[in-house]
Amino acid sequence: MFNSLEGRTAIVTGGSKGIGRGIAETFAGAGINVVVVARNEADLDATVKALADKPGKVSSVTADVTKPEDCRSAVEAAIERHGGLDIVCANAGIFPSGKLGDLTPEDIEQVLGVNFKGTVFIIQAALQALTDSGHGRVIVTSSITGPVTGYPGWSHYGASKAAQLGFIRTAAMELAPKQITINAVLPGNIVTEGLVEMGQEYMDQMAAAIPAGRLGSVADIGNAALFFATDEAGYITGQTLIVDGGQILPESIEALAEA
Ligand code: NAP
Repeated sequence: MFNSLEGRTAIVTGGSKGIGRGIAETFAGAGINVVVVARNEADLDATVKALADKPGKVSSVTADVTKPEDCRSAVEAAIERHGGLDIVCANAGIFPSGKLGDLTPEDIEQVLGVNFKGTVFIIQAALQALTDSGHGRVIVTSSITGPVTGYPGWSHYGASKAAQLGFIRTAAMELAPKQITINAVLPGNIVTEGLVEMGQEYMDQMAAAIPAGRLGSVADIGNAALFFATDEAGYITGQTLIVDGGQILPESIEALAEA
């Protein structure tokens, strides 16, 4: 049995939609107060409303993770509302597609800006508060794409997701003396608004390539993130957890068909 996390406070960037909203729902269900962060206010309001009946209190801050001052404001709001901050989920991310020959410097800057720099900025903004909590937890949403697999059109995205993992290994060493852990969840293909926008054909094709026979749910990722947030996971840091229904395992199409 895990210790209760009731009354702890978390920031979830990209918490208005998709995986971030799923993490917010799982955390609030466990009694954690959650501050969801994103740019679009209407989406944030809809999420706060949808999660209003959870044991943990869910509120929002409109902020852009590419701006360090916005990240500082989000942290200040969490401390003001709940008296401290225990957990940061650096989850906000974008995945625009572009083949290598077509990528502009702006495309590369945009993807690295949100996915990598945005991860660093929210963690930097929260460092003092996480240290003060005495049991700080950072959970980064990376991906199988980049760290483990490749997919045409996502070379810049894959690089940003691999960059997050390079970052957490040294960050883990710097944070360990402050009793802060930092780990990453690597989702496979998870059903979110973002994935739905890629079309049914894409989703069917991906589901067929997954040994578990289905795409992942946002709750699958929320549960993995919740584990890293527990007291019991306090000796785990700088690590990665792939949550993909076995998607990266088959050596070939034949191997998948034989299972
Ligand atoms: P999504 O449904 O498109 O949601 C993305 C979230 O990030 C939204 O809340 C969005 O809100 C926010 N966001 C984007 N840019 C932001 C910025 N500059 N500042 C603050 N918030 C920002 O995407 P998702 O599928 O849930 O993906 C979430 C994370 O999971 C990403 O890091 C992604 O790389 C990773 N991931 C997803 C999958 C998958 O299958 N879905 C697989 C592997 C990894 P606003 O646009 O309003 O700011």
